Amino acid sequence: MEKITSLAKRRGFVYQSSEIYGGQNGAWDYGPLGVELKNRIAGAWWKEMTRLHDNIVGLDAAILMHPRTWEASGHVENFTDPLVDCKKCKSRFRADQIPQENLTAKKCPDCGGELTDTRKFNLMFKTHIGPAEDTASIIYLRPETAQGIYVNYKNIIQSNRMKIPFGIAQIGKAFRNEIVTKNFIFRTCEFEQMEMQYFVKPGTDEEWFAEWRKQRWAYYEKLGIKMDHLRWHQHGPDELAHYAKDAYDIEYLFPMGWRELEGVHNRTDYDLGRHTQFSGKDLQYIDQDNNNERYIPYIIETSAGLTRNLLMIFCDAYDEEQITPDKNSGSSEGAAGSADDWRTVLHFHPDLAPITVAILPLMKKDGLAEIAQDIRAELKEDYATDYDQSGAIGRRYRRQDEAGTPFCVTVDYQSKEDKTVTLRFRDSMEQVRVPRAELSARIRSEIKAYKRIK
Ligand code: ATP
Repeated sequence: MEKITSLAKRRGFVYQSSEIYGGQNGAWDYGPLGVELKNRIAGAWWKEMTRLHDNIVGLDAAILMHPRTWEASGHVENFTDPLVDCKKCKSRFRADQIPQENLTAKKCPDCGGELTDTRKFNLMFKTHIGPAEDTASIIYLRPETAQGIYVNYKNIIQSNRMKIPFGIAQIGKAFRNEIVTKNFIFRTCEFEQMEMQYFVKPGTDEEWFAEWRKQRWAYYEKLGIKMDHLRWHQHGPDELAHYAKDAYDIEYLFPMGWRELEGVHNRTDYDLGRHTQFSGKDLQYIDQDNNNERYIPYIIETSAGLTRNLLMIFCDAYDEEQITPDKNSGSSEGAAGSADDWRTVLHFHPDLAPITVAILPLMKKDGLAEIAQDIRAELKEDYATDYDQSGAIGRRYRRQDEAGTPFCVTVDYQSKEDKTVTLRFRDSMEQVRVPRAELSARIRSEIKAYKRIK
């Protein structure tokens, strides 16, 4: 994880928040490459969950919601973690994350000092709206995006004439006052979620639950994630949330071990039932195709962390490789015995890579830079591009490998003669000669046909 954190900072993916003031715990800033990567992950999810389904629509609800929302959802009462402190070293732990023997003996796992009793701690950030700081002005930063979907479900049925089964997708910020925020951006106080809530007829919920588990698994496969690093974890009776009938997590093998990446939950009619009760509004669905049958829909939820997905994709793509002479295939990459024998490479899927194509003139002089700039101007409309003319070509390839750029275009003297360029592939490091006029179409077809080779 240290290597990943340091590469992420060095190359401008992720910085610590407010670093010049010593950093802000649980918050991170996404730099030039990071924001591109995050936007592309969000874009891939959005396409998968909305555009590829005729019956799923999008929503962008406010972060600040009526405080009754969180009473109805159960968050005011139940969204707590058990907290213990060490009286000696002042470390703070989640009681469910330290060994049971330490809890029983009230012994700090770090220094052996005495632990306090376990107390419940609500994870919602509470603040005040308006000038008066009284109980009437309390407002929460949303701890999940889902509730914004539930309270809008009737609006969306009416405005978009949705018929069950249908889904509503949303990407947005969520906030949790997490007790322990280690492991880089894995668990943070401010993060983003990508959630899709699917409304179904009671009795069909188990079928849809199985279907969404299948679809979410296939999604990660499509992104080229190492499938032996993913597994399912079904919630046991003691883990199941108060609203859930069944729940599975997709877990990923992060450097610190298997951890939750996404949850697929059967939330029953709990949420809409509670919002009916707390708002006094009738949230039943009226099935006009079926004698106006009325019922509260069941909800199948797929809930993934966007920032946690970014960490997973970063870890999954990260590799350090020794460059063997046959891999060089006559190119100027690497030199036996030098530091250039090794490369750090991010094998991002080309749909996700922050930079798709880098254009590199072999030399600045003799008109090569001008041709390269010209090619960049042409490709810019269709691809995220970068231009780099400084340093040896081998080093420039290394820099692009570290940024996860899948394609490099090199302009050399031959380009001047016959209007061809070199297209270099990140994963195989192979190079092919391509007519300049065919470059854009060739990159497009390479992206479509992309298969991860390692
Ligand atoms: P955990 O057990 O890890 O705290 P959770 O079960 O409370 O997570 P959910 O409420 O199901 O998580 O949230 C759905 C998804 O949102 C998670 O799978 C995760 O990807 C993401 N997520 C939740 N909490 C955080 C956080 N503090 N930081 C980053 N991502 C988070």
